[in-house]
Formats: sequence, structure tokens, C-alpha cells
Amino acid sequence: MKLPVLFVGHGSPMNAVEDNEFTDKWKALGKSLPRPKAILSVSAHWYTASTRTSDTREPRMIYDMYGFPKELYDVKYPVEGSPELAGKISDLLKEGVITDNRWGIDHGTWSVLCRMYPDADIPVVQLSIDFNAAPEAHFETGRKLAELRKEGVLIIGSGNVVHNLSLINWGMSGGFDWAHEFDDYVKQNILNRNFEAVVNYGKAGKCAEKAFYTPDHFYPLLYVLGAADAEDDIEVFNDSCIMGSMSMTGYLFG
Ligand code: ZN
Repeated sequence: MKLPVLFVGHGSPMNAVEDNEFTDKWKALGKSLPRPKAILSVSAHWYTASTRTSDTREPRMIYDMYGFPKELYDVKYPVEGSPELAGKISDLLKEGVITDNRWGIDHGTWSVLCRMYPDADIPVVQLSIDFNAAPEAHFETGRKLAELRKEGVLIIGSGNVVHNLSLINWGMSGGFDWAHEFDDYVKQNILNRNFEAVVNYGKAGKCAEKAFYTPDHFYPLLYVLGAADAEDDIEVFNDSCIMGSMSMTGYLFG
């Protein structure tokens, strides 16, 4: 059975501990999706020179966020790694990936997975995002990893389509006009299966210049689009912008 592929807008790390409409949907996805044998997570928060993965059985948990309440640092997600999945990733990406066990499971991954799979009983392997690579290269890496879906692997990209912390307005419930415009550009092109227009996101115009200043939270979407195929149905969920400059919109292909 072929597993779906999923992009999640993770937003604030507090979503690990605060219940809201977004986390309700993540919980529901964990219950409704076919149960994966393993999870491959492309997290915005492992942003490195070159593409990396980890083959340890015991990845450590990374609390890579600052200034949040203690309860967030008390969250434990003691999930196993999967040397087997790491080996498959290396087979598929060949010299395009290196093994690096200095990282672990960061909050881009655990803040979502602790809601989807709270028992932490599905092995997780992260793949890093090469900050030197062009958008097309991220899409292409996703395409190469697509066949893992047939082996029971759930591929998750965890980021945010719009993510500009320097323009954030903490008290604002919706998004700025340009945030909605960029989020809509991405959504319409995904629904029309024009993934090339998402890879070439600069074509969205001025709104693309504000959507993010660094693409670390956007790139996980490109891996997911690369791993999607023409047979997949597309579901848009958590379709919204918050705090002015963040999109929570997610996509399920399968
Ligand atoms: Zn983040």
C-alpha cells in the first residue's frame, strides 16, 4: 500500500502543548492515515550545508527554540530512529546525502508528531535541507524519495508556506494581504497541479518578497510536491494565515 505524503504548517512550537483547530486536525490525521512503518521528516529546522540524514537508532531530542514556557521543554518524544530507512535514503540519493548523527529530532518534527502519533512508537528519520541548493533541487530530491511511499514510509514536510518572523504581529488573528496572496498563489497552483509554479515561487510577484526572507520553512513543501504523483488526491487543511505573516496551510496527497 502506498502511503500519502504530507506537508504540515507547524507554526508556533506551542502547538505541541496547546490545543487549537490546527492541532485538532493533526490529531485527526494521525488517526485517519494508514499507519506508517516509519516516518521521514523534512523539517525546516535542520537547515545545513549539503543534504544530511541520521542513521542512529537513538536520536536525541532537540529543543531548538528559545524563550518559551517550561512546559514546552518538558515535552518528551522518545522516538526511535531507523538505520534501515536511513540506508534506503542513502541508496536513493547516493552521493546526494551524507550521514550526520550530530542533530536529532527537532521541534519542527516533534511538535507535530507528538500530536499525530503521541505514543512515539513509529520510527522517525530526519532529512536536512541543503541551504545552498536551488528550489528545483529540493523538488528533485523529493521525487527521488517518492518510492519510499510504497514501502510504508510516511514522508512529511514540516514548515510554513508563509513565515516571516520579522513582520509578525502577535495580536493579529488573520494574515496581511500579501500573506494571503502568496498562500493563495501556492494553493491554486497546487490544486491545478502546476507544481513548477510553486518551485518558481518568485512568479507570485511582490508578495513572494515578503512571504519569507529565508526559504527554510518553505522548502519542505518542495520535497512533498516532488514525492506526490498524478494519482494522488489533494486535500488542503488548516487553510489559514495567522499573526499577519504566518500561514498554517497544509496539504495531504494520497
Ligand atoms: Zn518552525
